[in-house]
Formats: sequence, C-alpha cells, structure tokens
Amino acid sequence: MNNFKILAINSGSSSLKFKLYDMPAGNICVGGIVERIGSSEAQFSINDKTKTVPIENHENAVKCLLEELLEQNFINQLNEIVGVGHRVAHGGEFFKKSTVVKEKELEKIEQLGELAPLHNPVNAMGIKVFSEILPQSIQVAVFDTAFHQTIPSYNYLYPLPYSLYQKYKIRKYGFHGTSHQYVSQKAAKVMDLNFKESSFITCHLGNGASICCIKNGKSLDTSMGFTPTDGLMMGTRCGSIDPMILPFLQKNLYLSVDEVEHIINNESGLLGISGISNDFRDVQISAEKGNPLSKISIKMFVKRISEYILSYASELKRIDGIIFTAGIGEHSAYVRREICKQLACIGVRLNSRKNRKNEKIISSENSEVKVLVIPTDEELVIAKDTYKLVHNLVKV
Ligand code: AMP
Repeated sequence: MNNFKILAINSGSSSLKFKLYDMPAGNICVGGIVERIGSSEAQFSINDKTKTVPIENHENAVKCLLEELLEQNFINQLNEIVGVGHRVAHGGEFFKKSTVVKEKELEKIEQLGELAPLHNPVNAMGIKVFSEILPQSIQVAVFDTAFHQTIPSYNYLYPLPYSLYQKYKIRKYGFHGTSHQYVSQKAAKVMDLNFKESSFITCHLGNGASICCIKNGKSLDTSMGFTPTDGLMMGTRCGSIDPMILPFLQKNLYLSVDEVEHIINNESGLLGISGISNDFRDVQISAEKGNPLSKISIKMFVKRISEYILSYASELKRIDGIIFTAGIGEHSAYVRREICKQLACIGVRLNSRKNRKNEKIISSENSEVKVLVIPTDEELVIAKDTYKLVHNLVKV
C-alpha cells in the first residue's frame, strides 16, 4: 500500500476546517480552522494556536494554510498531499457514494445547490480552489447524504402529490450520513459483529441532531428529511412541526419566506423554548437553577429522541445496539439516562456507573438491547474514503 498525506476539508461560507492525515495509518498530522474569511481580522488556528491575519477569500485561506503546513514542516513539498477530501452536504439522488471530482461532478454538485443553498455552493468553491492551487492533487467529495441513499421509497417519499417528487425531487435525503455510518461500523467492531448483518439505531446528538435506523449495515430511515431542519428538536432548529404553522405565520404575522426560514432554523429548538441558549450545557445549568422553560425544553428534546428510537425499533426485527454520538450524545450522561428511561418498554437498562463514566458500552448485563457511546469522526471517514479512491489512481 502507498503511504501519503490526505487533507480532509470542511468549507463553510466564511470558514475552512482542515485535518491533515498520514494514510493509510489514519494518524492526524495537524488540524485547525480558518475563520472569518473575507475579513482583515481572520482567525487562523492551527494545532490550537491562533493568529489574526487578513484573509480576503477562500483562495487566500488555502494559500495561507499550505504555506503554514510547509513552514511548520508538516509537509516538505506540496505534492506530498496526494488527495483532498471535501465534505459536501448534498449529493441528491445522483451521488450514492464518495466520488473523485472532475469538471462534470463539480457541475453536478453546483446544480445540487438548489437543494442545499447554504452548503453546496461553498463546498463546490472549496473543491475549485484546491484544484486550482494544488493541481497535482485529486479532489474527492464525501457526501452527507450518500449513506442514506439506501432508504426505501416508502420511507423517503412524503405524502405529497407524487409529481412534486418526479419534477422537483422533493423527498427525504437525510444528513450526517458519514457520522451514522462511522459509529455503526465502529460499534459492529466493538461487538464483534459482521456490519453487513448488524442492526443499529444511531443517535447523532449535537447542535444539529438526527437519528438513523440501520438494518444489515444500510440506512433504512433517518429523522432529517428534504433539509436538515426536519426531525428532532435541535439547538436552534425546530425539527418536525405541523406544516400549516408556516403559512399561518406568513398570513397572520405578514412574515416573508426568509423571516419564516430564519425562525425555524435559527430561533427555534432549545434556544426557542428556553430563551437561554442553543448550547445544551447552558440550558441544563439554567434548568438546574429552576428555570421552567429550560426544564420543558430538555423534556421536549428527550421525548422526541425516544419517540424516534421507539418507532425505529418497531421497524427492526432485532436491535444489536443503540448508539449515542456527537457533543450531547458523547458527553451528557444525563440526556442518555433520560432517553433510556423512556426505552424500558423495549428492554433497555442502563448501568449508571458506566453511563456516568461515558464508557463504550453503558447498558447493564441484563439489558435486552446494548447501548453504546461511540465518538464520531467524520474527518477520518473523509480521509479514508479519499485514500481509497486516490490509492487506486496513483502510484507514488
Ligand atoms: P456538536 O455539534 O457535536 O459539537 O455538539 C455541540 C453540543 O454538545 C452543544 O449543545 C453542547 O452544549 C453539547 N455538549 C458538549 N459537551 C457537553 C457536555 N459535557 N454535556 C452536555 N452537553 C455537551
């Protein structure tokens, strides 16, 4: 096997997150983020050290990053970076797996910007910039939606006129696919199971949150939908609500489409109900001090998660495990305990000591379903997928 360096990139509208890996070992050489791109006071953090520098655009951010990697000897020359893996939000129905990006693929990713206007255009720009500045490197796109392309039509269709699906591709796509795939594969390894025969319910609970029902290693259903606003209650997103609330707001409060969008994406969820914060820790502290709305918001958050788990449990004949991951899922023993209390009816029993210590398996010996905490690592999946594709194309 060839050894080489792979960059995993997550481009945002004004930020660029990066991790450089030694592959195939999967060791991180360095990681960081460039924030406030477009400002004279952009923040460039590398290995937890931050400096303030003017960075005009993404092109400059990439140049700055590469110069820094050379200067700090993480690479000796640019052509050591053989592949660059990019997180891309939406692959629509077109991209079912990670893909080497050339002109045709880039065009398609840009077209899919219709379905993910906040993400795909900046993801595409990231790919373009790297292919211009590092022309010898191979660009790979890793899609948040790809893992969910196995969801059957009875789960991905909405009960709307079928023509809306045919003409406009309005359907469930699901997101956080790399995370759901990674933690379920990891859990299968921990439990010594064949992933292709395993069934899990994975709970990615971060600022954005989604649940996935995985049967025989394939996504069978997930809580996010046409957009990442659907499903669970999140930090600032409302999740599923009665769709008639939206026209009601427009008709009766005379709100524009943009204003309604802002409410459901930025002013709702934990923040909307508690009025305190979108950050779970802040809401919990306020609930512990007795704030009634913070208490209610946590109850709502937990209730929706358990409802999804129970509905997915009814779709699976056998559940090998329920997995918690991402900021809240990995760190909040309290949330896991409250959720698992609601799951006693399917035989879930927690071991409180193991749960408090965030151990890998936190269910008790007599639990009918295993419960696991698996830290997610989306960048590693990006690096691995990129390595696989690049490895087949180059000889170093
Ligand atoms: P993520 O989007 O995966 O980075 O997760 C962010 C969320 O995780 C925020 O709501 C944080 O408050 C929450 N979080 C991080 N650490 C903890 C913790 N120790 N206990 C509870 N929530 C946490």
